[in-house]
Amino acid sequence: MALKKYVYTFEEGDGKNKRLLGGKGANLCEMTQIGIPVPPGFVITTEACVEFLERKKKELWPNHMEEIREGIKYLEKKTGKGFGNPKDPLLVSVRSGAAISMPGMMDTILNLGLNNEVVKGLAGLTKNERFAYDSYRRFIQLFGNIALQVEEEKFTSIFDEIKEKYGAKLDTDLDTKALKEVCKRFNELIKKETGKDFPSDPYEQLYLAVKAVFNSWMGKRAVDYRREFKITPDMANGTAVNICTMVFGNMGEDSATGVAFTRNPATGENRLFGEYLVNAQGEDVVAGIRTPKPIKELRKEMPSVYRELEKLRHTLEGHFKEVQDFEFTIERGKLYCLQTRNAKMNAAAFIKTSIDMVNEGLIVEEEAILRIQPDMLVQLLHPQLDPKHLKEPLAKGLPASPGAASGKIVFDADRAEVKAKLGEKVILVREETKPEDIHGFFASQGVLTSRGGKTSHAAVVARSMGKPCVCGCEDLKIDYEKKEASVGEVALREGDLITIDGSTGNVYLGVIPTIEPEFMEDLLVLLEWADEIARLKVRANADTPDAAMKAKKYGAVGIGLCRTERMFNQQDRLPIVQEMILADTEEERKKALEKLLPFQKNDFREIFRIMEGLPVSIRLLDPPIHEFLPSEDEILHEINQLKKLKERVEAIEGLPETLKLLDPELYNRYSANLESMGHALEELKDKHLAESLVREKEAMLEKVRALSEINPMLGHRGVRLGITYPEIYKMQIRAIFEAAAETLKEGKDVAPEIMVPQVCTLQELKWVYGYVEEVHRDVKKRYGINVPFKFGTMIEVVRACMRAGRLAELAEFMSFGTNDLTQATFSFSREDAENKFLPLYNEKGILQHNPFEVLDVKGVGRLMMITVEWARKTRPDMKIGICGEHGGDPYSIRFCNYVGLDYVSCSPPRVPIARLAAAHARLTEKEYDPFKV
Ligand code: ADP
Ligand code: MG
Ligand code: MG
Repeated sequence: MALKKYVYTFEEGDGKNKRLLGGKGANLCEMTQIGIPVPPGFVITTEACVEFLERKKKELWPNHMEEIREGIKYLEKKTGKGFGNPKDPLLVSVRSGAAISMPGMMDTILNLGLNNEVVKGLAGLTKNERFAYDSYRRFIQLFGNIALQVEEEKFTSIFDEIKEKYGAKLDTDLDTKALKEVCKRFNELIKKETGKDFPSDPYEQLYLAVKAVFNSWMGKRAVDYRREFKITPDMANGTAVNICTMVFGNMGEDSATGVAFTRNPATGENRLFGEYLVNAQGEDVVAGIRTPKPIKELRKEMPSVYRELEKLRHTLEGHFKEVQDFEFTIERGKLYCLQTRNAKMNAAAFIKTSIDMVNEGLIVEEEAILRIQPDMLVQLLHPQLDPKHLKEPLAKGLPASPGAASGKIVFDADRAEVKAKLGEKVILVREETKPEDIHGFFASQGVLTSRGGKTSHAAVVARSMGKPCVCGCEDLKIDYEKKEASVGEVALREGDLITIDGSTGNVYLGVIPTIEPEFMEDLLVLLEWADEIARLKVRANADTPDAAMKAKKYGAVGIGLCRTERMFNQQDRLPIVQEMILADTEEERKKALEKLLPFQKNDFREIFRIMEGLPVSIRLLDPPIHEFLPSEDEILHEINQLKKLKERVEAIEGLPETLKLLDPELYNRYSANLESMGHALEELKDKHLAESLVREKEAMLEKVRALSEINPMLGHRGVRLGITYPEIYKMQIRAIFEAAAETLKEGKDVAPEIMVPQVCTLQELKWVYGYVEEVHRDVKKRYGINVPFKFGTMIEVVRACMRAGRLAELAEFMSFGTNDLTQATFSFSREDAENKFLPLYNEKGILQHNPFEVLDVKGVGRLMMITVEWARKTRPDMKIGICGEHGGDPYSIRFCNYVGLDYVSCSPPRVPIARLAAAHARLTEKEYDPFKV
């Protein structure tokens, strides 16, 4: 067997193999091989990392070091420099990089190879002593912190001390003498903290650095991040290490370092976007040490480099077919590219660039669709500030991540997390953010920082999460100790409400109302492409005319679930519904139902009109009937209050008599008032103290007690209710048919579908079908119209799955109610599961997901597969859909596509997401295997 290779030079590594070389490494290889100026380097593979971690010996094995030495020899040959050679030293960076980019999760060491001797050589060689010592102090700090675990604060406090001593405001204000002092102090610090001298042998430095990078894979930050973003070993296993020849942006005024995007990641605009800092190195730009300049200034400052950057941008996009986020360094006027990766952008920018890149001929429609993750579209539903608001902003920063958010100020990530757990909306306010603040981002509505540019950590992370962010708000002064901040005269304390607008950079005091965003033109185009590709149709769950309008607006091709009970719950109807429930006789019940009929009919008619002939699946009454009645406690409480009121009124009624006796003069003075009070009391008695009222309440109490069930969700509900109280279902069916007939009379098309809930046997369906035929005949007679309709059933009971073939004899369509079906399959009640044990199940990996959010394909999905198969055996053209919450979840939609459903139905705002997901599912179906372990 050939020896396994652990090291690949940028010239030989396979740029497609991100799993082996990490994203950064693979792209460095790719760029090198297509002729982009990348400093020479090599990659140590992720396999080396995994093996190192598995051995738990904490040592690199000899083979590794051997290969790494070879790598360095290769660099020496390429550059003509010598590793550790003071006359012409080779310096390298040691950089981590896993298969999936994890911004800021693992640290990079720059300028490795320096020591007290080499630094002098570098100074002489470059005739730039300041530069040499600037590089050295950076190296000692990074190496000391990352490889030797000396706390970062200890370095920064020395650095600040020296800055103060020399009266320097910025790092660039320090002269050579000061920097030498920094190096000396840093070296002393390391000696003190580690008990050893700073390692001067460059190979030892390299050895320790590589080990540190490998170990960082299991560091808390990295592990947390992987857990939070559900990055499994399948997706990224171990980090690669990139050893890259140093180029220097800190060699003076003709040198710089920067980060750029091939297009604007906030808007998608096709123009170079980025920031740079002159005479700076590495992370200076993102760390917010000095405020960087926008890239367009480089056009004036270094015109020829700017032209090269423009060229680079086109080369990168032409090759990667994706917007790139890249790092560059200019060393004495020469441009180097140090990294590239697919840009993280917000949804709006993704959509715009998708459309643009198709128009530019860079990609085809399928690629345009696949590059946008369906869930991203959620962001487009992000609220925006109501344009009618008139408030003046308190301060202004950079618009770093669009969307608006309001919340209470918190000054650190931990507080944000605590407050969010208590259900409060918070805005995280910081000078700048660091990777360890990530939990604070999750907990916050938005992020506000006083320092850093649009490529700062806060901006990048917020954008990738689609959370609003304003950064670099320089007027904001923060005092972490006191948990206070101020803008000019205005003081801000923890808990104060603010609003930030990440689209404009404005910060406001208090809460400003927000509105729903407009639908982008570009999104419509993209979704049309998606519809052409997708096989699954997308309907919406909509119970009201209002929701139906939204469904239409978002492009639903029908209503997959219209829940009639929502209509019952409205203020003006509930009393009638209660009257119906409380009825003692069938006659009384029918009377109440008569009153309900027009309401239901009107709603249906409205919905039919809006949907203009698109199918509308109406589910007959489903929930346990007592849900429409107040609870036993509520009624008891009311009865008690009534009794109390009675006592009080009686007490006050005696007041005038008593007063007359005790203080006639006072009585006379107020007699008029007292009299009118008497009238008021009479009225109050009439209205609230009638005996009948108390009796009514008591009757209701009795009924509520009679209706109470041990387990209502498994009790008297759904079709069971329809069979015991036929008049209810008949009224609903009548409302549907009459509304349809009337709509048809107006000359509009209708396609009603009657859906029966909770069915478990064909006999139930037959029973309800009997009502349908009866009412249909009657409506035909009265309206002279033969209303077209479909009759079908929900599939939400396990028995229904098992009897799908039989149900299909009568049902013309089926719709999976996966919320109930999931409960039934697991024998979990959702509420109890989510409140009591599911979080732990997820945390411990007993269940991968919450099955109520992400369809359990292996269990519930299997049942669905059997159902589809058997149903279509009986009725080959059986239309089958899903209307549970899962219908809007991309992962679940993929499965629905796989089992051959006809449609998914979800809440209106998720319709665009589902449309895109349906196209994705179709485009990736070949590589999809839901039952893979
Ligand atoms: P991250 O993954 O955090 O972006 P990088 O490895 O890309 O870490 O490096 C951090 C910073 O150091 C970046 O600004 C990068 O451009 C810079 N850098 C890395 N290697 C070199 C090098 N060989 N020469 C100059 N700058 C470098
Ligand atoms: Mg970093
Ligand atoms: Mg980088």
